[in-house]
Amino acid sequence: MDLFEHQARELFERYGVLVPEAEVAETGSAAREAAVKLDADRRGVVVKAQVKTGGRGKAGGVKLASGAAAAEITARQILGMDIKGHTVHKVMLAQPVEVDQEYYVSFVLDRAQGQFIAIASAEGGMEIEEVAEARPEAVARVPVDPAEGVTAEKAAEIVEAAGLPAGAGPVLRKLWQILRSEDALLVEVNPLVRTVGGEIVALDGKVTLDDNARFRQARWGEPDEGADSGSLEALASAKGLNYVKLDGEVGVIGNGAGLVMSTLDVVAGCGAKPANFLDIGGGASAQVMADGLSVVLGDPSVKSILVNVFGGITACDAVADGIIRALGRIRLTKPLVVRLDGNNAVRGREILQANPHPLLEQRTTMDGAARRAAELATSAAAIA
Ligand code: GDP
Ligand code: MN
Repeated sequence: MDLFEHQARELFERYGVLVPEAEVAETGSAAREAAVKLDADRRGVVVKAQVKTGGRGKAGGVKLASGAAAAEITARQILGMDIKGHTVHKVMLAQPVEVDQEYYVSFVLDRAQGQFIAIASAEGGMEIEEVAEARPEAVARVPVDPAEGVTAEKAAEIVEAAGLPAGAGPVLRKLWQILRSEDALLVEVNPLVRTVGGEIVALDGKVTLDDNARFRQARWGEPDEGADSGSLEALASAKGLNYVKLDGEVGVIGNGAGLVMSTLDVVAGCGAKPANFLDIGGGASAQVMADGLSVVLGDPSVKSILVNVFGGITACDAVADGIIRALGRIRLTKPLVVRLDGNNAVRGREILQANPHPLLEQRTTMDGAARRAAELATSAAAIA
């Protein structure tokens, strides 16, 4: 689960990383009151959209206001704004910082290497992916052994490799402490700045917590509760489904993460783009199918749906039965291609055949099914 910037800021403050004074507001008038508290009429105030996505600045979600009255107007403009599919329900008002230099620092889990990695650059502020692409030598990557952690020596190594200011060392150690103590998979500060006064301040923060550790980090609540509760991911997670939104047009449902991942590749190989990852696991019940289908159907960019199931302990006839009963509970509005293979596949296919639906088709191979779903998605796109 990602934290909002204001939550990350709170953590930074608790661990002794310098952050600007800030307040959160959900309405224009609350923003004005917050701005008054922050002495906006004398110092100005930065109004920042609280959404769980980056690039808010470029999207117009980070603005400087000259005083409390201006902050109210700016907050009203930003509240309700859509930033990359995220509606702004909250703004954070922060005391402006006089920036001398911007840096990038993060600690992230490197699953491939089974360790953590520090990524840091003296070219902060911009999206780090762009810096890494244009000038890879400007981005330092330093492995961090989880057992050793960020010692003074390790911090000095990162500072040296990235060309950070000397005062960044202690900040790196605190950020590492946050990552470990809070069970985070990512702690990112972009930009970390040196102020005109020479202080090192975190001006933005992104923290991703490890959902597997939620049982001991309960205070953050359920994933994406509140501001993001309208999203498909929140809806799926409320139904206990393992769903990730992608940016294509073929909805994908399968059983088992490995099979779903390969299905995404096969869809892409057929010239279409998957709209999501959805693993229904061993669950083939009508309810799980109905839940999965309704989440995928709720995505307006989906043009066709591919259900790819390899029957194991849950046999294909049970899955087919689940699909038929699910279609009795929800209204199918987009073409659905089903491929059943494995345990009791023949029986499963017969069940689907015996219960025809004008929008449901079957294919017996994964390639054939993906090709058909891709075809349906692209022809639908051509009509639309
Ligand atoms: P993002 O665009 O979502 O990454 O949002 P940020 O919080 O990083 O804000 C965007 C940019 O606004 C930062 O990279 C800074 O350059 C700038 N910015 C934000 N707050 C301040 C501030 O207090 N003072 C100055 N000078 N710039 C700021
Ligand atoms: Mn930023």
